[in-house]
Amino acid sequence: LHASQKPGSVVKTLSGYDIRQIKNDFPILNQSVNGHKLVWLDNAATTQKPRAVIDATSRFYERDNSNIHRAAHTLAARATDAFEGAREKLQRFIGAHEAAEIVFVRGTTEAINLVAQSYGRANIGAGDEILITTIEHHANIVPWQLLAKQTGAVLRVAPVNDKGELLLEQFAALLSGRTKIVAVTHVANALGTINPIEQIIALAHAYGVPVLVDAAQSSPHLPLNVAALDADFLVLSGHKVYGPTGIGILYGKRELLEAMPPWQGGGHMIRDVTFTHTEFQGLPEKFEAGTPDIAGAVGLGAAVDYLEQIGLPAIAAHEHALLEYATAEFERLPDVRIIGTAAAKASVLSFVVKGHDVTDVAKYLDSYGIAARSGHHCAQPALRRFGVEATVRASFGLYNSFEDVDTLVSTLRLLVRH
Ligand code: PLP
Repeated sequence: LHASQKPGSVVKTLSGYDIRQIKNDFPILNQSVNGHKLVWLDNAATTQKPRAVIDATSRFYERDNSNIHRAAHTLAARATDAFEGAREKLQRFIGAHEAAEIVFVRGTTEAINLVAQSYGRANIGAGDEILITTIEHHANIVPWQLLAKQTGAVLRVAPVNDKGELLLEQFAALLSGRTKIVAVTHVANALGTINPIEQIIALAHAYGVPVLVDAAQSSPHLPLNVAALDADFLVLSGHKVYGPTGIGILYGKRELLEAMPPWQGGGHMIRDVTFTHTEFQGLPEKFEAGTPDIAGAVGLGAAVDYLEQIGLPAIAAHEHALLEYATAEFERLPDVRIIGTAAAKASVLSFVVKGHDVTDVAKYLDSYGIAARSGHHCAQPALRRFGVEATVRASFGLYNSFEDVDTLVSTLRLLVRH
């Protein structure tokens, strides 16, 4: 730890990472909840928005709002430029070769459903296998179950050990000529486990199997590069990376996206329509039927700019230091059990407190202005693997400070003394 990060010091920041400045960028954090300064520790559910994102979104509505049809008029051109500019920012953010490989969708959930219903329906049949892991979000389970029901395909699940780490050998043993897609989370939302995504992709590719990476939880915390990873699909949600809700992206390799049939039909995604035949647009419009969340995309572009300005490596280092500090403090708390103790973890502390219902713990924290989530975190199979139905989850974002951790820990200490 940096000297200024030692527990007990008044201002604990990484050198060059000005947490006060960063907190000031987020207007919502400057408020009291139940008489206490808000401590937002529900970042895995959604993140708060910096002023830059709020301003970019309202500026769009104040100056540029139009539907996107380039040749029509000045505001249409501006809106189209802003929307396509955002696509290029997302391309850069994830290291894709070209902007046409970025499809705007509502979020991770919609992106996975798109791949399941378009790629899946076209390529996965009866007896074929879809391989996921035990620690997936429901959004990376249910779309595949629906596909399996529709096609007769089989869902296979790779196990994790008692720390919540993927058992790579067992994962590899589940791969075969029958496997038609691997869909795995990069960071598990209920446990924080960082999956060894490079090895997963290499193993799957050895069988010629494409891999979908669910980057909903990794995108706010770790630098991503789909080209270096050789990921076939990668999906993320804007609201988890400090952007608006209702917008996210599907990345797909050009050759895969080109071969896939459209998922939804309507305006924007067509070149020519008659009552007997429709010619579709190319990438990415083929997958963007209807009017998209244009302002949302613009806001997401601003969020990505904001993240790049601070730098994902700096964010990752700060959050890692926070997590290590918080974990060490939690280990000293009586009757608190951490669920998910992988060696490689990001941002998430999931826990239960002996003798206290998780909802009561979250409500107690809320009475001190601390927002943490209680429940199953849309990952019931993951939690059941550890014999629990629900946990309290504190999850850190780039604006969280060591003082936030201290507030959490001292409040929990009050609770366990009760
Ligand atoms: N996948 C993971 C790992 C998540 O954490 C989440 C959201 O919590 C999702 C998928 C679903 O994201 P969204 O609700 O934004 O579609």
